[in-house]
Amino acid sequence: MIVIIFILVLWYGGLFFQSFFLHRYAAHQVFTMSKTMEKITFILTWIFQGSSYLSAYGYGIMHRMHHAYTDTEKDPPFSIL
Ligand SMILES: [Zn+2]
Repeated sequence: MIVIIFILVLWYGGLFFQSFFLHRYAAHQVFTMSKTMEKITFILTWIFQGSSYLSAYGYGIMHRMHHAYTDTEKDPPFSIL
């Protein structure tokens, strides 16, 4: 049972930090946060996403390219967004 809880926490935590930190904060700058909160959120994102973590800076650039060049040859591969 503990393994299932562990997997669920990692799964939904990873989804949350993908949406909250990488997408809304890093790619779209929907809101601001202090440098301390940014570092804490960065570490939590790294922990929850594990091996699939992509740097916030890299994610932001690639995701903005995705919005700018959707469905063209310049659109980055979907698997990393
Ligand atoms: Zn977006």
